[in-house]
Amino acid sequence: MRELKERILKDGRALSETVLKVDSFLNHQVDAKLMYNMGTYFKEYFKNHGITRILTIESSGIAPTAMTALQMELPMVTLKKQQSKILNGEVYQTTVHSFTKVMDYELTLSKKYINADDKVLIIDDFLANGEAALGAARLVEEAGATVAGIGIVIEKSFQVGRGKLEEKGYDVYSLARIGKLGENLIEFLD
Ligand code: 5GP
Repeated sequence: MRELKERILKDGRALSETVLKVDSFLNHQVDAKLMYNMGTYFKEYFKNHGITRILTIESSGIAPTAMTALQMELPMVTLKKQQSKILNGEVYQTTVHSFTKVMDYELTLSKKYINADDKVLIIDDFLANGEAALGAARLVEEAGATVAGIGIVIEKSFQVGRGKLEEKGYDVYSLARIGKLGENLIEFLD
C-alpha cells in the first residue's frame, strides 16, 4: 500500500534494528482516513474468502480493523489482553509471549462472540515473531471455527512471524513489508 509506505518513511521512527515506532498515525494518534484506506485494501484482498467475522487484538489493531469491518459489513470482535487466567468457562484463553514487551499475557475471547461455523479474518497492527497472530488463531480453532486469513498493517519481514504463520497454512496479507530497520533506515521489501 503505497500511501502507508510513504507515511512510514515520513513519520515512522526506527527505535532499534527491530522496533518501529508509528505513534503519530497508528499506535497513539490515529489517522482515521489512512485507517479507512487500509480497510479498502483488506476488503479487496479478502473479499472472496467467505469471511463472516473479523478479530483483532486490543488496542492498536482496533482502528484499522473497525474500518475494514465497516467496509466488509461484518461483525468485529476485539481480543482482550488479560494479566491472569479467567476460570469461569465462558471464555477461550491462551497465553501469548510478547518479545517486544518481554512479558506474557492471556488473550481472551468470549464464547458468545464466535461460532463454530465462522470463517475468521484476523487483523493486527504489526507482525514480528508471530506470537500474537498465532495466539488469536489458536482461540479461533479452539472454538471450532476457521482462520480464513490474516491481515497485517506492518510486517517486519526480517523477523520469523510470516514463516511461522505460513507453516500453519494461513494466508497472510500485509499492507507494508519491511526488509530492514536501522538508525535512520527503513527499507521495504518491494
Ligand atoms: P509478534 O507477536 O508478532 O511478535 O508481535 C506482534 C505484536 O507486538 C503487535 O500486536 C504489536 O503490538 C507489537 N509489536 C511488534 N513489533 C512492533 C514494532 O516494531 N512496533 C510496534 N509499535 N509494535 C510492535
